[in-house]
Amino acid sequence: MEIYFDNAATTPLSPRAGKAYIETASSFPGNPSSVHRLGQKAKEEMERRRSHMAALLGVEERNLIFTSGATESIALFFSSLLWMEKGTIVVSRIEHEAVSSWLPYLKKLGWNIVKLRAKGGFVSPEELSAALTPDTKVVAVMAVNNVVGAIEPIESLVKCVREYEKANGRRILFFSDSVQALGKTGLDLKGSGIDGASFSAHKINGPRGVGLLYAKNPEIIRPIASAGGQEKGRRGGTENLPGIAAFDEALSEWMETREEDEKRISHYNFLLRDGLGKLGIEILSPLESTPYILSVVAPLPSEVFTRMLMDKGFCVSSGSACSNNAKGKSEGILEAMGIPNQKAKKAIRISMGRNTTEEEVIRLLEAFGELIDG
Ligand code: PLP
Repeated sequence: MEIYFDNAATTPLSPRAGKAYIETASSFPGNPSSVHRLGQKAKEEMERRRSHMAALLGVEERNLIFTSGATESIALFFSSLLWMEKGTIVVSRIEHEAVSSWLPYLKKLGWNIVKLRAKGGFVSPEELSAALTPDTKVVAVMAVNNVVGAIEPIESLVKCVREYEKANGRRILFFSDSVQALGKTGLDLKGSGIDGASFSAHKINGPRGVGLLYAKNPEIIRPIASAGGQEKGRRGGTENLPGIAAFDEALSEWMETREEDEKRISHYNFLLRDGLGKLGIEILSPLESTPYILSVVAPLPSEVFTRMLMDKGFCVSSGSACSNNAKGKSEGILEAMGIPNQKAKKAIRISMGRNTTEEEVIRLLEAFGELIDG
């Protein structure tokens, strides 16, 4: 039996989300764009789900655009910039590739890119303030880093941007990739004042292939593919209604038990920090991180040590590894946090989910102990 500690990469589908998926697929066979009764019923169900998710997130229905996942949500936001007047984008060096891969394109098209370090894991509001210029059009800083779990000071960062805007009278868009924050932190989309955020269902026990883009002013979003005119013309293509229903249930489930889950996972995080610390393992995740992610320095290169753990039945990932291809990039992210390359090469990410148990945590600690002693 595999013991799963790679929940930041993806999570198992919850029975409640799975049930909603199957029931919606069979009860709403119509296409929401069709004008006949079955089509209209599917549309009503989709709008009911959107309303429910909007209420859970404290925003309005018009602010939510359904997509195929966070990578697409981010693409929708960044490709919309291509229609705007060029300027400077200030972006953290610790963004997921779904964001950072846009930068070379934007640069080629004449945008100026300014990258912010994240010493110790955090983007500093002072550094952001110093980087803003009258030419700044966009700032992008993720809510929770997927490699070490650092919770970025989004509200303070947005405040710096809004103060600068007031003094300069020029609008700056603030985008925050919030994939690892959804359901796990007290996300306040409206209160924080951000302009855009990306989410993915499969990180919170929903299905793969469904995501959300939050857009404070959806008018700025231009479609990547316009055919079909769905999502008010902002995201063409038949909507994944069963996936949307399952995403809604998954999010509801996380929100219903968020505080107790966080307490329990914080306790496991403490057990891991303490137990691994006693084995001489260095912890990379700062204390102000989500308890769900713990990044540590293994005694051997991460590919070797993750394989040794795998042979003992544990799934952990080296670095960020949302895919194996992401490995080199997570080393770059760790270096941007001030972690030397020889440590970054040994980084292992242990990521817990709502299903993680204390017994699994203890067994993981025992496995580390055996591998280090052996
Ligand atoms: N952003 C972050 C921070 C992530 O962790 C991930 C997942 O790997 C993504 C974006 C991409 O999400 P998706 O798999 O839904 O495209």
